[in-house]
Amino acid sequence: MEDDLRAVRMTAPGALEQVEVPTPTAGPGEVLLAVGAVGVCHSDLHILDAPPGLFPTPITLGHEIAGTVHTLGAGVTGWSTGDPVAVYGIIGCGTCRGCLHGRENECRTVPPGGIGLSRDGGLAEYVALPASRLLHVGNLELAQAAPLTDAGLTPYHAIELARPALRPGTSCVVIGIGGLGHMAVQILAATTAVRIIAVDSNVAALDLATRMGAHHVVQAGPETVEKIREIVGPAPDGADVVIDCVGVDPTLTTARSVVSTGGRLLLVGLGGGTLPVRPVADEPPTMPLETSVVIPFWGTRAELQEVIALGRVGLLNADVQIFPLDRAPEAYDLLRRGEIHGRAVIVP
Ligand code: NAD
Ligand code: ZN
Ligand code: ZN
Repeated sequence: MEDDLRAVRMTAPGALEQVEVPTPTAGPGEVLLAVGAVGVCHSDLHILDAPPGLFPTPITLGHEIAGTVHTLGAGVTGWSTGDPVAVYGIIGCGTCRGCLHGRENECRTVPPGGIGLSRDGGLAEYVALPASRLLHVGNLELAQAAPLTDAGLTPYHAIELARPALRPGTSCVVIGIGGLGHMAVQILAATTAVRIIAVDSNVAALDLATRMGAHHVVQAGPETVEKIREIVGPAPDGADVVIDCVGVDPTLTTARSVVSTGGRLLLVGLGGGTLPVRPVADEPPTMPLETSVVIPFWGTRAELQEVIALGRVGLLNADVQIFPLDRAPEAYDLLRRGEIHGRAVIVP
């Protein structure tokens, strides 16, 4: 194999460049993966914008990875060269209460530790990672498998947390129909009988939502709340579940203004907004009584296997825009400008 490979790295806070780096080797318990596809997640923009020190630099970005097993490190069993796989991106400590319950996304000792977050990710021709992070994808296209590992898994996990409330005939509002949101709509359509209301500021995103199975679409603007209320009815009724895949002040305001009494708010987007909570039944309330708020993080390995199963039976299809590795910086620029619909996927 070549000594050097091409990688797209955050070389310093805010700086994304394609560089040549030595090809990593698979350490004990690791595999070297030939990267087949990597999703371009909005979280990478938050990582690039984060204050210095929060994430290590230089680091190869890319935490939504699928590929084929290239080399097995010492002690790895159960995998063979050429196996097509998806990567579970979180690396929990393995010993805390969250990890022991199989919820590495709730690991209590390693705050967001993961591939492309705390160690080199997949925006490269090869990446070395623990064999324990691999899941079989069978004959699923790698460009489809990659987005399942985050854009699919994160909303799937959020929906799992709210599943008891997602009874037939209830309504669920999804705000932000981008990479995550267009998968959320499909997961709701495939696994529930709820009325799906999609909200986005962008008309193309709303068209995508309709194609993915949304029953109603609402363009975000000054009258978002009124338009959603026309569909879900007046307070104290409303949307049983709201999934906010943006997380800025205006979307959080929409979310708390349309949720029903006893409803659930799932704050998935990391847009930097603040949700005020005042536990008093005054007028106007910050939130209805009995509302619960969850801040879901990514998902579990078991849930990823279920997401892959939905993909393999054709119930979950990422709407992908493919870019070669050397155009990855351009894909991030387009994402920042709101010009990517569905998921941009880099194919090295
Ligand atoms: P994306 O850029 O693909 O999609 C965002 C969508 O929101 C776009 O369609 C955009 O038009 C829409 N939007 C933006 N501002 C809006 C507004 N004010 N009102 C209505 N719609 C608006 O992003 P993505 O990759 O889907 O990620 C979404 C968010 O989720 C990001 O903040 C990302 O960091 C976060 N995220 C969280 C987790 C987690 O575990 N909690 C995991 C992955 C991503
Ligand atoms: Zn992500
Ligand atoms: Zn842990």
